Amino acid sequence: MLKRTSEVKVMRDPIHGYIHVELQVVWDCINSREFQRLRRIHQLGGDFQVYHTAEHTRFSHSLGVYEIVRRMVKEIEEIAQQLSDYDKCAVMLAGLLHDIGHGPFSHAFEAVSSCHHEQFTQDILLGNSEVHQILAEADERLPKEVADIIGYRHRNDLLNQLVSGQLDADRMDYLLRDAYFTGTSYGTFDMERILRTIRVHGSHLAVKESGIHSVEDYIMARYHMYWQVYLHPVARSYEIIISLLFARMKAVWKKDPSFFKGLEMFVPFLNGKAASIEALHRLDESAALYGFSLLEQKKDAVLKDLASRVLNRRLFEYVEDREDTYEKIKTKALQKGYDPLYYVHRDHVTQRPYSPYKGRQDTHVIWIVDEKGGLNELSEKSAIVNALVDAKVKEQQLIYFPVELMMDQQK
Ligand code: ZN
Repeated sequence: MLKRTSEVKVMRDPIHGYIHVELQVVWDCINSREFQRLRRIHQLGGDFQVYHTAEHTRFSHSLGVYEIVRRMVKEIEEIAQQLSDYDKCAVMLAGLLHDIGHGPFSHAFEAVSSCHHEQFTQDILLGNSEVHQILAEADERLPKEVADIIGYRHRNDLLNQLVSGQLDADRMDYLLRDAYFTGTSYGTFDMERILRTIRVHGSHLAVKESGIHSVEDYIMARYHMYWQVYLHPVARSYEIIISLLFARMKAVWKKDPSFFKGLEMFVPFLNGKAASIEALHRLDESAALYGFSLLEQKKDAVLKDLASRVLNRRLFEYVEDREDTYEKIKTKALQKGYDPLYYVHRDHVTQRPYSPYKGRQDTHVIWIVDEKGGLNELSEKSAIVNALVDAKVKEQQLIYFPVELMMDQQK
C-alpha cells in the first residue's frame, strides 16, 4: 500500500487552479534534486526572446501534466475502474517525471549533444539518482514501471496513452500553459469537455462523438501553436545560435581541451561520448548562461561573438531559402570574414497538424466512439480534420545569418 501524505498538499497553478498531491512518493519526487533542477530549465527553449513572459519552466509544466493524469485516473470513470491504485500511482509519477532528462535550452542543446532527453530520463529513473531511490523505496517495481510508461512500452497500453498518446496529458498541459505564458490565444481549447468525453474502448483511449468539437479545437490549437510559438523564426534564431555555439565549442575542444579551464560544465558534452546524469545535472540553464558570460571574455573570436549574441539578444536575421540564396549569403559571409560554418545556417521545418498514418498506429490516432459503440479514426468523423489531413504540408525553409552581412561597411 502506498503511503499517503498527512493532508492533501495543494499548489496554486494558473492553468489548473490547484495541483493536488496526496501520495507521499509523489511529494518526495517533487522535492528531489533532479525535479527541483527543472526550475532552472525553460519550458520553451528560445521563445522568451519573442514572447517576453514565456519564462515558465519544465517544473511547472511537469506538475501540470501530473495534475491532468491525476484527474484522468480519478474522474474518468472507465479509467478509474480499470486501474489498480498502484497503476494509478505509477502513471501519475510518469506524468510528473516525463521531462526530467531535459538539458538546457532543450532542443538547441540536443541538436549538438549526442544524448537525448528521453535517454537521460530513463537513466535518471533507473540509475543512481534521488528520484530512483525515492521510487524504489516506495515500491521496488516503480522505477522500471514508470520508465516503461514514459518509454511507451508498458504492458498496459492505457497507461502509455495517458502520458504520451495523441490526446495525452503532456500535450494538453503544454498547449494550455504555453498559450497562457506567451499571451497568445491560439493554444486554448476546452480541456474540461475533453476530459468529460474520454472513454476507454478495448485497449484504446477514445472520445465520445459528442466531444468531437472540442477535439477539433484542440487539433487547431496545436497547429497554430506550432507556427506561432514553437517554430517561431525569432525563437529558432536564438536556438540556432546556441547550437552553433556548441558546435564551435566542440571544434575548439578537439584542438585545445585546455581552453575549457573554468568551463568544465560544458566538457562532458563536447567529446562525443555519452554524458553522465551527474554532468546533465550540473549543466542547467544557469550554469550554461554563466558559461556563456565567461566565453564572452575568451580569446576565440567566434565563441566570444556567438556568446555575446545569446546574452545580448543580437539574433540572426533570416530570409527564405530560394534558388541560389544560400550560395549568395555564403559568398557574402566569406567576403566579410565570417566563417559560414558558424554564421550561415539553413533551417527547414515542416509540420502537420494531425496525421493518422505515420509510425505506430496507436500513438498517432485519435479515436472517436460513435453512438453505436463503434471505433472510428478522427478524420473519418470530422470534416475539418479530414481537410487538414489532405492539405499540403506547411513548410518553412529559412536561412539564418548575422544582419551585418547585409550591411555595406566592412567588418
Ligand atoms: Zn512535457
